[in-house]
Amino acid sequence: MPSRRTSPPRPRASLIFGDLWEFDPAPETADPKLKPRYDLFIGGRFVAPRTGRYFDSVNPANERKIAEIALAGEADVDAAYAAAARAFGPWSALPGRERGKYLYRIARLLQDRAREFAVAETIDGGKPIRESRDFDVPMAAAHFFYHAGWADKLAYVAPGAAVSPLGVVGQVIPWNFPLLMLAWKLAPALAMGNCVVLKPAETTSITALKLAEILQDAGLPPGVVNFVTGAADTGAAVMGHPGAAKVAFTGSTEVGKRIMRQLAGTDTRMTMELGGKAANIVFDDAPIEQAVEGIVNGIFFNQGHVCCAGSRLLVHEPVADAVIAKLKNRLRVLRVGDPLDKNTDLGAINSAEQLSRIRRLVAAGVREGAVLYQPPCSLPGKGFYFPPTLFTRVTQSHRIAREEIFGPVLSILTFRTVDEAIEKANNTPYGLSAGVWTDKGSRILRMSTELKAGVVWANTFNRFDPASPFGGYKESGFGREGGRQGLLDYARLS
Ligand code: NAD
Repeated sequence: MPSRRTSPPRPRASLIFGDLWEFDPAPETADPKLKPRYDLFIGGRFVAPRTGRYFDSVNPANERKIAEIALAGEADVDAAYAAAARAFGPWSALPGRERGKYLYRIARLLQDRAREFAVAETIDGGKPIRESRDFDVPMAAAHFFYHAGWADKLAYVAPGAAVSPLGVVGQVIPWNFPLLMLAWKLAPALAMGNCVVLKPAETTSITALKLAEILQDAGLPPGVVNFVTGAADTGAAVMGHPGAAKVAFTGSTEVGKRIMRQLAGTDTRMTMELGGKAANIVFDDAPIEQAVEGIVNGIFFNQGHVCCAGSRLLVHEPVADAVIAKLKNRLRVLRVGDPLDKNTDLGAINSAEQLSRIRRLVAAGVREGAVLYQPPCSLPGKGFYFPPTLFTRVTQSHRIAREEIFGPVLSILTFRTVDEAIEKANNTPYGLSAGVWTDKGSRILRMSTELKAGVVWANTFNRFDPASPFGGYKESGFGREGGRQGLLDYARLS
């Protein structure tokens, strides 16, 4: 097991093929421009919550309080829906090209403040600065740009039918990609002419509230977008509000089911982006070095807090030993630590609660007979950290093969035939994503047809593009985000 560092922290070291390499700290120093307290964003203004209550947002890398966040109650959610309903008429009546201009402005302003947003995202959520800088923030801007491009072309979204907006949309998002999930939800809703009430996750509200500053700077009409912050009760109030023409939820399957039960019998439309337990399948003809990089990216990106993470590796028996040996070598050089350090590969786990869930499931893996491997690495003395972990000798019945761990933990299973790989990959209640590594085009075609997953990557993993629809099968949800299909989920057809 990895050791826990005691103070004072030494410069971190990594073992690379027997040589000891020392790295100097390389902290990102841009000012995230955080406020000590964040209010709700309703009707284009920051307003104090009617509850009078605030909760702390904590930096998971060092457990220090970052800011106080307003706790929205039902009256605040009512006020947000009322503001959105007032804004809907004029906003939906604007020509699409005018709405597109606002979306372009939001994207450009986000690009202007990209470094500041990246640092804020990392401090609030624990992800490595390299990822928030190179992935989260640019992809969020890309979603606004992409949907700005659609706003004046809505006549072509559904050939043969006219599209119109639904009204006020309620949205609730998770903590793993706070700004990006927000962009996935806001951009298509706004391009189509809807107004929004959105609740970010309670551990990661800050970039949403910083984006509210951008919405003000972009001159977005008051009430078109409203942010209410809080935890489950606030989320339930947003999802169950009678003013919502549609709700869009991203989060766990368990909460998604609860919301579906809450809304059963109403005419509120729903889309659900839920959990996953993706199979990343490596055949014996795959480019092995490339596959190993894809496996590492598939499970350790964002500490494994990724709904489409390749958390089950299915490896063809003839190459299993070689792949596992290479993976272990690769794990030994992953750098775990300060998320603000530009050399960090794995940052902090998002919260104490998530860390204990990961620990519980890893303990279950050991108890049920899977074989644990963790490289030697030292973890910072304070903060929520978990080392990169893999399990071999995993069977289909193990909890670590069935349940979403949502952490840096890879469960490795083997297979002998293509049919067995398909059978094992599909043997899950989830169906969000999958990966296939092989030299054969025909095999890629067959696997992409037979794998019951919304996204199937071939010889790559975790690739995203705003033009490419993303969403699940089975208990991973329904509806799509991105592309023409994502826009259609915010439209009425006539
Ligand atoms: P979660 O379901 O616990 O919480 C998600 C959001 O729902 C949070 O904002 C939370 O405050 C809110 N919430 C909690 N209870 C609620 C209720 N009863 N009614 C309404 N809202 C409520 O999930 P999480 O731990 O924040 O996120 C991790 C989960 O999200 C994982 O299962 C992951 O796979 C999933 N996820 C899915 C996608 C996707 O696109 N399919 C993307 C990212 C994350």
